[in-house]
Amino acid sequence: MYICAIANQKGGVGKTTTAHNLGVQLARNAKKRVLLLDLDAQGNLSDACGLDPQTLEYTVFDVLAGNASIAEAKSTLEAGLDILPANIRLAEAELAFAGRMGRENLLKKALASVAGEYDYVLIDCPPSLGLLTVNALNAANGLLVPVQVEYYALAGLALIRQTADLVRDLNPDLEILGLVLTFFDARKTLNKDVAAALADEWGDTLFSTRIRDNVSLAEAPSNGQDVYRYRKNSYGAKDYAALAEEFLKRSEG
Ligand code: ADP
Ligand code: MG
Repeated sequence: MYICAIANQKGGVGKTTTAHNLGVQLARNAKKRVLLLDLDAQGNLSDACGLDPQTLEYTVFDVLAGNASIAEAKSTLEAGLDILPANIRLAEAELAFAGRMGRENLLKKALASVAGEYDYVLIDCPPSLGLLTVNALNAANGLLVPVQVEYYALAGLALIRQTADLVRDLNPDLEILGLVLTFFDARKTLNKDVAAALADEWGDTLFSTRIRDNVSLAEAPSNGQDVYRYRKNSYGAKDYAALAEEFLKRSEG
């Protein structure tokens, strides 16, 4: 079971979109057994998968708190694709677990109980480096960082470096699987310059697949659909299919 944390302390860079469409492609096309794990109190991933975060009996919060097993809290979306959902209750996690022994390894422990059941766990992290992200990084085998191609991405690099260092302190076995550029628009000179600067700095750590700026990716979730069902010929569908292939090679290699 390969556990991948999808993290970036910035919001709106494509973490949730990547977890969702990468996970669907791995399950549907590559026939992998996939668990999507929503670790953001906003519940965007759960919502995009068609769940109503307000009506859930159990969520990832209950799993971390020890009130429910993953088996009890997960939903099956289709063959090979489960989701462990989140809702606003997860916003209490930081406080609720503050005094707990082993609070930084709650997720790792919970996932150990499903080790034989999945090929991939994709963790959609919240936009911060708090206790939840630390739990994800401690549990994970690999870190995937979506980076929005914009001028501020260059300043954000220092933070990503810091994250990488923090990760190594926490979990020396964790590999930086890669950075993936999102919202790429080749018509914008600035985008090309920023992408070139990122490539200079990060070399092979950058996935060669770039996720283009594509309206289908933004529209699909409001229909409770992944991008392949929503617009199978869109750039978004093509780019995430290509990313899934590269992801498989990297995570298996
Ligand atoms: P995060 O989880 O990092 O906050 P999201 O995946 O939710 O980011 O993406 C932020 C917003 O941008 C969402 O409305 C999403 O649908 C949209 N979006 C994500 N990726 C793209 C893209 N490549 N092109 C256009 N819109 C995108
Ligand atoms: Mg998100």
